[in-house]
This record gives sequence, structure tokens and C-alpha cells, in this order.
Amino acid sequence: MKITKIETIICNARMRNWIFVKVLTDQPGLFGWGEATLEWHTRAVVGAIEDISPLLIGEDPRRIEYLWQMMYRQHFWHGNGVVRGTAISGIDLALWDILGKLKDTPCHQLWGGPVRDYVRLYCHLGGGKMEDYYETKPDDAKRFGELAQEVVEAGFTAFKSMPVPETMPIEGLKPIRYAEACVEAMRDAVGENVDIMVDCHARPSPRMGMLFAKALEPYGLYFFEEPCWPEVYEDIAAIQKSVSTPIATGERLIGIHAFRDLLACGGCSIIQPDITHCGGLSEARRIASLAEAYRVAMAPHNPQGPVSTAASLELGFATPSYIICEAVHQDVPWRKDIVSWGFEVEKTGRIVRPNTKPGLGVEIDEKEVAKHPFKQELPQRSYYADGAIGDW
Ligand SMILES: [Mg+2]
Repeated sequence: MKITKIETIICNARMRNWIFVKVLTDQPGLFGWGEATLEWHTRAVVGAIEDISPLLIGEDPRRIEYLWQMMYRQHFWHGNGVVRGTAISGIDLALWDILGKLKDTPCHQLWGGPVRDYVRLYCHLGGGKMEDYYETKPDDAKRFGELAQEVVEAGFTAFKSMPVPETMPIEGLKPIRYAEACVEAMRDAVGENVDIMVDCHARPSPRMGMLFAKALEPYGLYFFEEPCWPEVYEDIAAIQKSVSTPIATGERLIGIHAFRDLLACGGCSIIQPDITHCGGLSEARRIASLAEAYRVAMAPHNPQGPVSTAASLELGFATPSYIICEAVHQDVPWRKDIVSWGFEVEKTGRIVRPNTKPGLGVEIDEKEVAKHPFKQELPQRSYYADGAIGDW
């Protein structure tokens, strides 16, 4: 059996261009789906996949680990940058999909069978970046409370929010009080039986991140995400050691070595590798094993398209430390039109039962995808109050 072709198919989904990867074989009808979505870098990833493809054409798609090593180690530059890491990830997902289809079994069965009955989903509160506190509107906190109520009424028992505003490296009490008011409003709206997550998008400096973490500690967050730049593990570790709130990070780390360094310094309680960036399911499974040694939980980053979600769920059903799956449910209304999948989603409680279809259990409708061709992503810019550049 041989790989004959690797295609990329782009589907514009507002904020992101989803990049689906299709690995074809010389067996009639046998191909695999992967995803390599990297917002604002779509053409670079498509080019990286084109660059890697000659290494794989003619190779046996069942030799997944051998091919992963080939993609990561050949051509001198290792695959630990985000563009190449994303390209490798997309192909790796498709190879696992092929193997599952060949064996006529879901991927999680290939990895030892299901370790749980269901995977819990969490959603985003919506709205992405909320209002700048520099232009605080008196109703911001109230709006957070209303949005929180809405997602709970939609069946979710956990959600993620972004009430921490962007701040200069050091600021006074105003942004802290803003974040506190918003989180308090959400907690008041949903009570203590719903889990609230706060994502800082790594915008604060280490000191501001610590101040926000301490201020929000009394609200019993499920986790507090990316409280400062993700590359500086010691700074994240200092925040984790200063609060009881579980700190989550890792969506921008590529490869097992980055996670080794993060875990070794006690940086967090939850790792969030992105399966479409970190090196695919092959590397995510290694990272999960490494995290097991530290008894650190896993909640993969997953705001992209449906193949990414399927991969995250397959991993979740085979990984003991996996706690929850990120689910985007409000990005585009036609999400369900382009994909069919083998997962059963229970709206009440928002949980997912195991995939019953082979491989990743997803099929992409290429005719529907063609209705949403590539569009340049809108440039996103972030500024401090004085006009200096902040972090998006
Ligand atoms: Mg995040």
C-alpha cells in the first residue's frame, strides 16, 4: 500500500480558514482526513505541506511512527516550529484516520479502547474579545452574567470566558477590579455547580498575570488559562505556585520537549496541547504519557474545525488524564453541513459518546466546502491605552 497524493482543501469559517488535509492511497476509496488550521498563516501551512509531501509519496501509510519521524527529522530543520508542526499534525491525523479505516475501527480502539463512557464538552461564552476596559461600559459585568446564563440554558455545564482585559506590563487596580466584577457576575448568574474558565490569551505580564490570578482565586475557577507569555515556563510556574486555582497552558507549544520543560518546573495543572499544531495525535499521545508522570490533566486546545474536534475526542476516549473537550458551537451556522461524524452528542449536559465509525469518524463534504473558499483573515490588532502594541 502506498500514499499517492496529499491534498489541502481550504474552507473559510469567518475568523479562520480551516485547512483540511486529505491523504490518498493507491487502494481505491481509501484516504484519510486531517486538519492543519493555523489562523493568519494559511498559505504558509499549505506550502509547508507541499514541501513535506515528497517525503511521503510512495511510502506505506500504515507506518505512522516511521513517517512521523521522517516528517519531523528530515531536511535538516526539525518540525518544532508552528508552521511545520501544524503541517506535520495535519498529515499525522490523516494517517491515523487511514489506519482506523483499514482496520474498520475507531482510532481510540487502536490505542487500547475507551477509558471512559463519555467526554464532557465546554463552550466559549461568545463574543471573542470582550470590550476593552480602557473604555469600560458600566454594563460589561452584567453582559458576562447574561452570556453565562445563556450557555448554561443551552445545556453546557462548563464554559470559557475572557474577562481579563489587556494591560500594560504594570497597571493599577482598575483592570483587576474590572475582571473581578465580570467573574463575580458570571458566578452569581450560574451558581457553584457550573464550571467557569478564564482565558487570559497570554496578554498579561507575569506580574499582572499573578495579580489577576490572585484576585480571581476566590471565585473557584475550573482553570485559569495562559496567565502570561507561554514560552516562559518559570513565570507560569510562579503563578501556579502562588494560587490554588489550576493553571492551564500549552496551546502554543510544539512538541514533547516544550511540554517536558513546562512540566519539569511545575508550570501548570492542565496541559492544553493543540493536536493540529503540537505534532498531531502521535505527539499528543506522547505528551499525554509524559503528563501522566506528573499527574497533570489534559484539555487540548480545539477552537478549529470539525476534524480537529474529532481528533480531540478520539484522544479523549483513550487518554485517562483527559478532562474536557473544547467545543466551538457558534462560529459558522453551516458547520454541520460540511461534515458527518460518528459521535453522538447529548445536548442535555453537553456530553459526547464514543465515535462508532472507523478512524476519526469524520467525512467532509467537499462540495459544501467549495461554497466557502479561502478568504484573507481580517487583521487583528491590539493596543495599550497609550497606543503601544499589545498582544492579540
Ligand atoms: Mg486559550
